[in-house]
Amino acid sequence: MTATILDGTAVSKRLMAALTERVAGMARKPTLAVVLVGQDPASQVYVKRKGKVAHEVGLGHRQIDLPIDTSEADLLKVVAELAADDDVDGILVQFPVPAQIRQSAVLDAIPAEKDVDGLTTANLGRLVQGRPLLVACTPKGAMRLIAESGVDPAGKRAVVIGRSNIVGRPMALLLEQANATVTVAHSRTPNLADVVREADLVVAAVGRPEFVKASWIKPGAVVIDVGINRTPEGKLVGDVATAEVSEVAGAITPVPGGVGPMTIAMLMENTVEAAVSRRP
Ligand code: NAD
Repeated sequence: MTATILDGTAVSKRLMAALTERVAGMARKPTLAVVLVGQDPASQVYVKRKGKVAHEVGLGHRQIDLPIDTSEADLLKVVAELAADDDVDGILVQFPVPAQIRQSAVLDAIPAEKDVDGLTTANLGRLVQGRPLLVACTPKGAMRLIAESGVDPAGKRAVVIGRSNIVGRPMALLLEQANATVTVAHSRTPNLADVVREADLVVAAVGRPEFVKASWIKPGAVVIDVGINRTPEGKLVGDVATAEVSEVAGAITPVPGGVGPMTIAMLMENTVEAAVSRRP
């Protein structure tokens, strides 16, 4: 079998075209504020890309650059100002933040209704309770790609490898709420290959290059590769050994061009949703 490629670039382009049209028809432009502390090169690339895409969709966009030695109190003050600013619909603080700042303190300062990354305690808590407000962009985008595969998670066995608050944990909740029977595997899971072999749907969010092998995959399974890893040679690869797994899986997301572009599309969608729910 040669797996169908779930083309996140193409799907995200369609989504963004629809969003652009929606935004053009809105009386007030939704606005995304992105805060970057320090000058980490990877973070700068991510933040620049978010600004560029926001501009393409027609959103308002602000970027607030703060020095690397910004104190937690000063960052919280900036977040509080954005929270109080009625013209700002979405607030995103680019992580990681420098060591003197607690990520949890930053997240707790962002009001749930402006938390377009869907990472605050309130938004993750709402997802746990089955009444989501704004959902984390990467798992939300991964769910859209599963929908694209034509496989309905209802009644299927799903295995999510990884239990981070950003990807694995919310992904497992979304799959469970879509009526899949979900197993969460992690670094302490014994016999991981056997666990994964039971899955009709596999989501890999591990952070280890080409970790998931073809021999772990049930023939025909849908494989969603969230991983973004750089090899020593500088090549971008996922958490799945794509070439060999493609021979067994029914559908697979490529890296790059799978979940990555969906994540940014979901950020734009969340910004629009945040604007609409604040001012229906
Ligand atoms: P993380 O380090 O917070 O979590 C990794 C998870 O993998 C942990 O829960 C851990 O238990 C599990 N794990 C580690 N080693 C394992 C092993 N040997 N066997 C089984 N499980 C193991 O990482 P994260 O933030 O969840 O990100 C995971 C990957 O997804 C990374 O490659 C990251 O770059 C990528 N990512 C991509 C996007 C995107 O937009 N595509 C967004 C966020 C993260």
